[in-house]
Amino acid sequence: MRHLLIDFDGPFCSVFAGLSAGEVAERMRQQLVAAGHELGPDWAGEGDPLALLRRIADEAPGMVADADEVLTGLEIEAARLARPNEEMEAVLDAAAMSGRAVVVVSNNAGQAIEGYLEKHGLTDRVRGVVGRVPGEPESMKPSPRLLLDAMGAGADASEYVFIGDAVRDVEAGHAAGVPTIGYANKPRKERSLADAGAVVVVTSLVPVADALTSPDIDS
Ligand SMILES: [Mg+2]
Repeated sequence: MRHLLIDFDGPFCSVFAGLSAGEVAERMRQQLVAAGHELGPDWAGEGDPLALLRRIADEAPGMVADADEVLTGLEIEAARLARPNEEMEAVLDAAAMSGRAVVVVSNNAGQAIEGYLEKHGLTDRVRGVVGRVPGEPESMKPSPRLLLDAMGAGADASEYVFIGDAVRDVEAGHAAGVPTIGYANKPRKERSLADAGAVVVVTSLVPVADALTSPDIDS
């Protein structure tokens, strides 16, 4: 394994720690109504803004472009208030020390991720950021699309490992042919990540960082 693909929400930070996911979903609905859109009858209860975007794609495809744009603005705001995961520092240090590239691969908007990295002085520590394709929620994990884009055409997927904290990350990894390390940042995730087929499940990123600089690891 040479390079690292790393999910954003979870491994890097808790995106919605300051501006909550429920609040973002609510503001998303309000802004869509203000823009003249009519909401689906049962969208009010959806507290996950990315799930709401997916539902809009399924049920009201004509609204997707606006919904994605509205959500992107809200994610930029949320990312400014995100709570960093202090453990990521060790992973980025170890990646740099062992000559591995890091690419962020996330269902969040690329602009929000870039804003976060800039605020925390991390921009130069990643090779790239691959957020969801604007206006195309179907690009989101569990689709392999973002991972394949991150690796680039003709890449050897076995040269990469993906770190993610959700079952959909493991599923996207499978579909892209990339082994996925499950990061169980909440106790209940350990089982589900393992069941989904994560090559290993960790409850901390520190052992991952240690392994990256271990002389035993295959290149
Ligand atoms: Mg995540």
